[in-house]
Amino acid sequence: MTEQEDLSHERLKHHFAQRVTHQAHQILEIWQRLQTQEWSASGLAEFSEANGRLQRFAERFEQPEHRELAQATDEVLQQIADNRGRLSSPLISDLNRLMQRLSRTGLRQGDQLAHTALPPLRKPVYILLQDLERAQRLTTQLEFFELHAVALSSPTAFYRAMAERHPAAIVMEVDFAGPNQGLALAAEVQVGLEQKLPLLFFSQHETDTPTRLAAVRAGGQAFLTGTLEVSSLMEKIEVLTCVAHYDPYKVLIIDDSRAQALHTERLLNTAGIITRTLTNPIQTMAELADFQPDLIILDMYMPSCVGTELAKVIRHNDRYVSVPIIYLSAEDDMDKQLDAMSEGGDDFLTKPIQPRHLITTVRNRAARARHLKARMVRDSLTGLYNHTHILQLLEDCTFRARRENRPLSFAMLDLDHFKRVNDCYGHPMGDRVIKSLALYLKQRLRKTDFIGRYGGEEFAIVMPDTDLESAFQILNLIRERFCEIQYPAQPTDLCCTFSAGVVQLHSDSDNLKMASQADEALYFAKNNGRNQVQRFAR
Ligand code: GH3
Ligand code: MG
Ligand code: MG
Repeated sequence: MTEQEDLSHERLKHHFAQRVTHQAHQILEIWQRLQTQEWSASGLAEFSEANGRLQRFAERFEQPEHRELAQATDEVLQQIADNRGRLSSPLISDLNRLMQRLSRTGLRQGDQLAHTALPPLRKPVYILLQDLERAQRLTTQLEFFELHAVALSSPTAFYRAMAERHPAAIVMEVDFAGPNQGLALAAEVQVGLEQKLPLLFFSQHETDTPTRLAAVRAGGQAFLTGTLEVSSLMEKIEVLTCVAHYDPYKVLIIDDSRAQALHTERLLNTAGIITRTLTNPIQTMAELADFQPDLIILDMYMPSCVGTELAKVIRHNDRYVSVPIIYLSAEDDMDKQLDAMSEGGDDFLTKPIQPRHLITTVRNRAARARHLKARMVRDSLTGLYNHTHILQLLEDCTFRARRENRPLSFAMLDLDHFKRVNDCYGHPMGDRVIKSLALYLKQRLRKTDFIGRYGGEEFAIVMPDTDLESAFQILNLIRERFCEIQYPAQPTDLCCTFSAGVVQLHSDSDNLKMASQADEALYFAKNNGRNQVQRFAR
């Protein structure tokens, strides 16, 4: 083949590979929708059909990873069909795992195969702000983190862009093109659309309730005020467009009657919710740690203890203060119900309960709790997990890695000579660097890795299913790229580096040991000249 032919062959291959990626995105969209609706036969059929298409495309266009995933998905769907369309917790979990893997295809692996890898299919995000320059600045920052954004200057430009391509999301300033015109414009473009577009409103100033109401009515799914930080914007966009919502809800049912519990499980499973039952309340705390439910359904009267007592026990542990507890009982005495609610419960449902009532209550409560938790456990500057939470995650992951006999790595990062950055360029510039490293890590690591801000300019990363060598490789790659970033500044542009220590879980180790070993390796990296990653040597 000539060089020319070779090139066009590559391009063709790339083109077809994109079709496979596109189909994968379609499936993920359906999967995401299934999390918010009841799993009807038609929903499952649509899912199955889309998966069949992926399987065919992947085969035709030689994408082995996608083919394997589609095949595995098909097998699970077959099992559901054999089960007369009935879902169960293991089957939902299986599907979820496959969808998570599908959403990650070509993400981190992309780094190693830089020239053959597909870019993720990037629908743009349309940005419409009064101040075009500001919109363009935001666009550049988002681009830097591989979010494809387009700043639009006028309603005409917006209509033209919409006619050409529907975006992944729209960020619209309330007063774009005139007072409250942004609201009207956003509402207008949604008319007649089969599926509403993720829409984020923004206002520079705190707004009154009528404006917020108008935003909701115009289809707004989020409302941001203030300076419009890239990190908070990224987070919102991620939630509205991406993997964050693929995870099915998990519900722990505590009931001494297995029959009653089974009934509740069945109802919830039909809605795609993963369940676990505990008939012996004494094991509650261990079960909570292991299962990490989004919500607990509690029987009011059990032989060994009363529901309200158990609720108090659960609430005594800081980690579970915000997990919603719903009592399910035949108790219809209103006073007793109210008493129960005042003692750590969030809701009271009386048996027998309408399936839809139960499912809706569980979904709403679980969704709000996830939202709340997402804020509680996060650091406000970077949006990463805070110190306490990243250590809890490390602990959870060590348990899981042990039980499933899978590798687990943990890393600690610290920016080099950061005092100098503050001294020479000012504290706000220092903050910018911290934020940008946070975003960079989010972008470069897998969705299954957990990233925390450990301290001022220190970060911690928990990497499940990753051995020491892979963890080292990926961190080193991130380090090499990060130090090439130039921050525009006076008198000269600024570059920053970081040092890191990484460690793998071993049988004689635990989360605390891992943390101190990573710290030790980091210390070594610093002493050894900085701007490097060191593995903890056993
Ligand atoms: P090295 O780690 O390479 O040994 O040197 P260093 O200069 O980074 O040393 P050290 O870790 O002791 O100092 C960290 C500095 O980071 C101290 C503090 O001024 C700065 N810092 C910590 N948190 C923040 C923050 O949130 N914002 C800004 N701008 N600076 C911070
Ligand atoms: Mg430090
Ligand atoms: Mg430092």
